Amino acid sequence: MTLNGLSPDDRLFVLTGAGVSAESGLPTFRGMNGLWRGYRVEEVATPEAFAAEPELVWQFYSERRQRHQTVEPNPAHFAIARLERALGGRFFLCTQNVDSLHEQAGSRRVVHMHGRIMQSRCSNPGCTTPPFDDATAYRTREEIPRCRRCGALVRPHICWFGEVPFEMELIIHQLGEATQVLVVGSSGVVEPAASFVRLARRNRAHTIYVGPEEPANRTFFDEVLQGKAGEMLPQLVQDLVSGGNDP
Ligand code: NAD
Repeated sequence: MTLNGLSPDDRLFVLTGAGVSAESGLPTFRGMNGLWRGYRVEEVATPEAFAAEPELVWQFYSERRQRHQTVEPNPAHFAIARLERALGGRFFLCTQNVDSLHEQAGSRRVVHMHGRIMQSRCSNPGCTTPPFDDATAYRTREEIPRCRRCGALVRPHICWFGEVPFEMELIIHQLGEATQVLVVGSSGVVEPAASFVRLARRNRAHTIYVGPEEPANRTFFDEVLQGKAGEMLPQLVQDLVSGGNDP
């Protein structure tokens, strides 16, 4: 991929991180200094924290659920939805974000590798009850529902620290097929997403990063376009889908 457009043979893999939603008003973890009520996010977003204090973990996610219901997609989300419409099956979108802003902007096929804030699931790993839509804010232990099938507490449908992200087989397959990789607003610190660009480069994909700061995995990018996603992506996408020729 260059700013002069994609060729008809190109397959584009897009990875978005918290930065793509920053201009919609959802802070990145670093934007929150990684802290919530004095706790490090890594202390709250774990299976161990849920086992010890499920109400504390639910309070963290309940605050986020309420916040997420008030935000709107920004021009970066709309630009990425335009890429999907233009490229169809040659486009793959993987997000680290748990918000629904890509869907709200019109993206139809979004892989949420870290889960979705507006879904819950049974906390028993052996239970087969599928995740379900849930916008409820739970504050006390008594309010937390139990699984109707096995009786375990219901938890947020989120990939916590120490857990394996969702859909990794599909993601790795798509990385192997991609000729072009665009990463937007991801610090390059959180694994395994931070290694995607290295894997793609091994397959000779061309790699571009968009964000205000250089990511930690900068050495694996062919190009780093420094700026805010909402300001950079509409023009970048215009150039990609039109070969830079359209007005
Ligand atoms: P991060 O907080 O580690 O890094 C965010 C990156 O976004 C930084 O590199 C920063 O420079 C960049 N950024 C900030 N403003 C930007 C802008 N306007 N345009 C483009 N880039 C911008 O985030 P991460 O690497 O995604 O990892 C943190 C994890 O926390 C995520 O994987 C996700 O699961 C979770 N998270 C999700 C949300 C959400 O769903 N909106 C928000 C915060 C954290």
